[in-house]
Amino acid sequence: MRRLASRVLSAIVDLAGDALAPGRCAACDEPIDRAAFCAPCAATVERVRATPPATGSAPTLAAFEYGGAMSRALMRAKYKDRPELLRVLARCALEPLELPLQELARGALLVPVPLHTTRLAERGYNQSARIAATLARSVGARHAPRALERRLDTRSQAQLPRRERLRNVAGAFVARVPLRGARVVLVDDVMTTGATLRACAEAVSDAGAVLTGCVVVAFAERGGL
Ligand SMILES: [Zn+2]
Repeated sequence: MRRLASRVLSAIVDLAGDALAPGRCAACDEPIDRAAFCAPCAATVERVRATPPATGSAPTLAAFEYGGAMSRALMRAKYKDRPELLRVLARCALEPLELPLQELARGALLVPVPLHTTRLAERGYNQSARIAATLARSVGARHAPRALERRLDTRSQAQLPRRERLRNVAGAFVARVPLRGARVVLVDDVMTTGATLRACAEAVSDAGAVLTGCVVVAFAERGGL
């Protein structure tokens, strides 16, 4: 664990000199130089331990365990009006994922999991689309932020037990642009049960597209979101 954490820390410190460096820790807001996390927070950021489940036959790429400073940073990015942190976190995720994502996204559209329009209006941005934009630019893939639409304003998945999450989200998504024949990589901030990604995959498939993979910044291995 210590070895892993220090490997991640050195990777994150590689943001040094990057114009994206925030100047403050993404998790605790401590002033820092040219890194995503301060040293104590970085020590709690862990690379993903287990491969997340595939969605159908499409593999899932995940960079980090959901927990520690990574979960705090993602929560701040989503719920504390800090969209700029999403770019930083996406860059952190790219450090381990850039090569496999390049493979997965070759000739594909990067499609973020959409928010319902009500939620989007409240938040002002879709965290998954912000992440997808950074990933797409970095691997030279096309970003299709409005390819899917969330038809149902589902209650926050986080508060529901697993079985209800599945029921809650089924049929919630639909394609809103022609996708027939397209290759699609879905992008989300966090994967827990995979219910949301599976529901998006249905919409992709219903639209005649092929899901080639999913990519998330963090994986909550025990559904502990
Ligand atoms: Zn910190």
